[in-house]
Amino acid sequence: MDDNFINIWEKALEALKEETSQIAYKTYIEVMVPRVIDKNTICFLAPSSYHIEICKKRYLDLIQNTLKILTSVDYEITFEAKDVIPEEGEEELDIEVVKGQYGNIEVNNNSQVINTSIPTDVKKIKEEAGLNPRYTFDNFIIGTNNRFAQATAFSVSENLGVTNPLYIYGGVGLGKTHLMQAIGNAVIDKNPSKKVIYCTGELFVNELIKAMLNPNMNDSFKKKFRNVDLLLIDDVQIIAGKDKCQEEFFHTFNSLFESGKQIVLTSEKPPKEINGLEDRLKTRFSMGVSVDIQTPDYETRFAILRKKAEEERYLIDDDVLVKIATRVKSNVRELEGVFNKLMAYTKFTNNPLTDDVVDNTIESILVKNSKILTSKLIMQVVAKFFDIKVTDLTSDKRSNTIAFPRQISMFLCREVADMSFSAIGKDFGGRDHSTVLHAYSKVKDEYNNNPDTKDLIDDIKKILERES
Ligand code: ADP
Ligand code: MG
Repeated sequence: MDDNFINIWEKALEALKEETSQIAYKTYIEVMVPRVIDKNTICFLAPSSYHIEICKKRYLDLIQNTLKILTSVDYEITFEAKDVIPEEGEEELDIEVVKGQYGNIEVNNNSQVINTSIPTDVKKIKEEAGLNPRYTFDNFIIGTNNRFAQATAFSVSENLGVTNPLYIYGGVGLGKTHLMQAIGNAVIDKNPSKKVIYCTGELFVNELIKAMLNPNMNDSFKKKFRNVDLLLIDDVQIIAGKDKCQEEFFHTFNSLFESGKQIVLTSEKPPKEINGLEDRLKTRFSMGVSVDIQTPDYETRFAILRKKAEEERYLIDDDVLVKIATRVKSNVRELEGVFNKLMAYTKFTNNPLTDDVVDNTIESILVKNSKILTSKLIMQVVAKFFDIKVTDLTSDKRSNTIAFPRQISMFLCREVADMSFSAIGKDFGGRDHSTVLHAYSKVKDEYNNNPDTKDLIDDIKKILERES
């Protein structure tokens, strides 16, 4: 680039930094790389066409004016995006390897494919492996909450069988499935002949039951899960407490492990904390590396939203993204929920996003997901669990079959729904504050000292999570 212009652009950047918000400056302005076309024309190379759209819409005048003040030249400004895929036959295609969405294909100067050894139906291979091509490392945002998990997952995808097993754990909606599938997608992208299977723990259980009922299928079940280079089992905790499944999984695990095949598991908890998981599986699951994913901090939440906007080419103000990232804290699935709803609103109504629309959308997602916070839902779940009626819980009945579930419900109202003792009393047939306090302390004490009660309450909590 023209040395002279480098100096001018540096000065312009200083001025632009003052004129724009920190986020806007960092995201849309600082990333532009100027190229002098002629004495009156500058072309900016932008990271994506999305950046160009935003820049043209919001900052073009500002950039032009700033340059004019500094140089007295009325520059004509054009943009070029890095992500534009060249048309066939264009110069850029004269390279040996073209990076495609599903792998690389070698081509000659006339754009003819000269090496078709890599199957082009990678999409189909992924589908058969149970993978969703949407989950990649490229679109996985790295933050302090998942940095180690991402780095380890990436290295596993590059060196199968070395870190075995990789065990990823963490709460709901934090990116475990995404990361696990990214490993599978990366492995197939690199080498489509690698045999990958992605399967949820639930599906594993179902397939095993089917195989047990039909002896002809037993062999194919074994073949399917043991004849792979990479086995991905998502939410593996579901096999806990299921003897036959644990037994079969133990053998599957050993067979793969011994032949150096890669195993990746996800779960909501570290192995030793999964109730009902056989000790020998706990030991096996802990043999490689365990990594956890925490809830994302504000910067990561914002970055995830920005990335989504870019991917979807959705022109949404950063102020709105800031608002969503500030209010929606607990998991990424909720963040995406709000984002998708707003995008649908814009697409279908073509109306601008007012504060009201944004606030209501955030509220609706948060409320929907906090359905768990009502005593009504807790009572429904507990009643179903103990096979009694909801009205029993609010009744005066004192038999232990009713009183115990009632006390547990009250305990959960306090612990998970954060209700006051008097509000709980009111919802449970007008009981007074001290009755609830007594029930709460009793259950809490049991929870801490009796592993059976703890298991039972944890199971109910899990159902509540699913129901909310
Ligand atoms: P989990 O399996 O832990 O419940 P998922 O992997 O299903 O969570 O993630 C929920 C959603 O959030 C998915 O759509 C996923 O793509 C997205 N997501 C989670 N973490 C990230 C991240 N770090 N970057 C981009 N998207 C993410
Ligand atoms: Mg998941």
